[in-house]
Amino acid sequence: MLLVSVVTGCAVPRSGTAPVSGRALPSPTAPARDSLHIAVVYPAVTDVIQSHDSAFLFGAVRGGRGVEPTTLTVDGHAVPVLPNGGWIAWLPVPDDTVAQFRLVARQGGSSDSAVTLFTARVAPQFRPAPGRAAWIDTTSFTPAGTLALPLEEGIPLSVHASPGATVRLLLPWGSSVPLVPDTLAPELPGAVRAFVIDTAPRRHVPVAGRYVGWLPAAALCADGRTACATLVVTVGGDTAMARWPLDVHVVDMTFPTVVVLDDDTAHTGTTDSLSAGRAVPHGTYNWFFPTGTVAVESGRWNDQVRLRLSRATVAWVNEAEVVPLPPGTPPPGGVVSSVRLASGPKSVTLRVPLPARLPYQITERERSLTVRLYGGASDINWMQYGESGGATGTDPLVTRMTYAQPAGDEVTITLELARRVWGYRARFDGRDLLLEVRRPPPLDREHPLRGRTVVLDPGHPPLGARGPTGLWEPVATLAVAFKAKTLLERAGAIVFLTRTDSTSIELYPRTHFAELRDADVLVSIHANALPDGVNPFTNGGTSVYYFQPRSTRLARELDRALVTEFRVRDLGIGRGDYALVRPTWMPAALTEGLFIMLPEQEAVLASEDGQWRYARGVVRGIENFLRERAREP
Ligand SMILES: [Zn+2]
Repeated sequence: MLLVSVVTGCAVPRSGTAPVSGRALPSPTAPARDSLHIAVVYPAVTDVIQSHDSAFLFGAVRGGRGVEPTTLTVDGHAVPVLPNGGWIAWLPVPDDTVAQFRLVARQGGSSDSAVTLFTARVAPQFRPAPGRAAWIDTTSFTPAGTLALPLEEGIPLSVHASPGATVRLLLPWGSSVPLVPDTLAPELPGAVRAFVIDTAPRRHVPVAGRYVGWLPAAALCADGRTACATLVVTVGGDTAMARWPLDVHVVDMTFPTVVVLDDDTAHTGTTDSLSAGRAVPHGTYNWFFPTGTVAVESGRWNDQVRLRLSRATVAWVNEAEVVPLPPGTPPPGGVVSSVRLASGPKSVTLRVPLPARLPYQITERERSLTVRLYGGASDINWMQYGESGGATGTDPLVTRMTYAQPAGDEVTITLELARRVWGYRARFDGRDLLLEVRRPPPLDREHPLRGRTVVLDPGHPPLGARGPTGLWEPVATLAVAFKAKTLLERAGAIVFLTRTDSTSIELYPRTHFAELRDADVLVSIHANALPDGVNPFTNGGTSVYYFQPRSTRLARELDRALVTEFRVRDLGIGRGDYALVRPTWMPAALTEGLFIMLPEQEAVLASEDGQWRYARGVVRGIENFLRERAREP
C-alpha cells in the first residue's frame, strides 16, 4: 500500500503542507560579500500558498558587519530576528494570485541595510463573472470524474452557485433533479483541524451559495454512449449553464465482478504486500488486506475501487491494487472450520482454515485480539489450545478463545490474553489465515531498558521540513537518533538505527527493518511543520503520534518526557495514520518534538544541547513506557 500518511505534519507530504519539500530548497547561505542579505526559505519559488487570509514566510538575514542586532520589517511590520539570523512572519495574503512582500533588514545604527521585494504565488480562487446575476462555480462540482454504482444507489451532489437561484440538473432523457440550498450544514467545511489549536474561524464556503441534490444512479455520460447532465442556474432573467463533469456507469451486482488484491501489480518487490482499505475514498486506513485477498467489487470513483466485504461493510482501495478475476468467478465465501493454536518461543500462532482468502480485520484491545472474517459462516467445531498431539499443552498466553457469528456473512474469533498485547502479525498460508501473537519480552523492573531491542528511525529523507536558516529535518533527526542511541546503549539496550547517513530510505523498508530485528519498541524521530494558513505563533509545541492501541502509553510517556525537556507547549498525543506507527509487531510512536520552522525551535534542534535534550526525552519516554509494562503481573 501507499505508505504515506494522511495526517498533517512534517511526515506527510500532503498538498498544502507548506514547508515539506522533496526539492532542494534554495539554501539561505550568505553571499560571498558580507553585506546584509535576506533569504526566504518558504515559500520557495515553486511553492503556491494554499491559504487566502494569512500565510507565514520564513528565512534568515545573513551577512552584515559588527555585532549589532539586526532588525527586519515585512511590509512595515517589525519581525524579530534571532542572533543566527532566523525569522518567521505571519502576514495577510492579498485577494490575488500573487502576493508581493517588501522585506527590509537593517543592522544596528549602521547604514547597512537590505531590501528585498519577494513575490509569492497564491492558489487561485473562483470569481463570478462581473455583471452576471446567475453563475456557477465550476471548480465546486462534487462529485466529479467517473463513478460506478449499482442501480439501486444514489449520488449526493453539491455545487456552489449564485445565492437565491433556482438550480436543477437536466438529465439527458428529459427529466431533471432539483438542487436545494444546503440548510443542513450551516458551516463548511467545519471539521476540526487536527493539532491546530487556533480558535480563529476558518474561511467557509458561503452557505448562501451552496446547493445539494440527490441523483439516482443511472448511466450518464458513459463511454460516449449516453449523454451528459447539465446544471441550470436561474436568477431572475439570467441563466447560467454548465455540464456537470461526471460520468456514471452502472455496476451489475447480479453477476458481480470478483477481484483479487495485489499490492504490487507493478512488480517492484519493495512493498509491504498490504492493500489499505478505507471507509471513504482516499480516507484513513482502516483495513490491511494482504496480497491475495479476494473480494467483490461494488463501485468505483475515479482511481478508487469499492469492495463489498459483507452485506454490511464496504471498503475503498486503490484501483492500481485491484486485479479482476475472470467473469463468472463466484464471490468468495463459505465455511470457516475448526481452529488451532501452535506455540513457538517468541509467539503463539492461531491457524484459521478458510474457504478462500477472505478479507479480514483484526481489532486489538488491551488484552485481546479479534479477527473478523468477511464472507464467512462459522462451522468452528473445535477451538484447540495446543499443538496436535498435545506436545506443548495449553499455551499460557492465550487464556480463552471464543467465536461469534454477528451477521450471516461475518465470523469473529477472539483470543483473550493473559498479558497486555505487545504485538501481532497476520498472513495467509495457502488458504489458511495465520495470526501470530507476540510474547511480551522479559522486562527488568529496575533497569527496563536492559537487554531490550530498540529501533530508532531518524525521520526522512526523502522529504523533510526546512527551518528558517536552512536546517533540514533529516540532519537534525539523525543527530538526535545518534545521541539517543548512545544513551540507550548506556542503559543496556540493543539499538538499531534505520538510517545512519543521508541516504534516502522509503517508509516500508524502515518498518520492515524494525520487524526483522524483532524490535521491542520503534520510535520515529521528526521535527514538525505547519500547513499553509495556520498561525505558527499560536500552534507550535510538542506532539507524539501512535496508531495501534498498545502504543498509546508509549506516546504519552514520550510526550511527557519531551515536554519536560523542551518546556514548550504540550500539544498532546494523537492517533495518526503514519506508516512508521502502523506496524503491528511492536509498540511504535512518532515524535514531533519541536517545530523546525520556528526560529527559536530550529536553533534548539541545531544545537548540541538541544539534540541531547531531544535524545534524553526519547530515552526517558521509552524507559518509562517499559517500566510501566514491567509492573504488569
Ligand atoms: Zn518529518
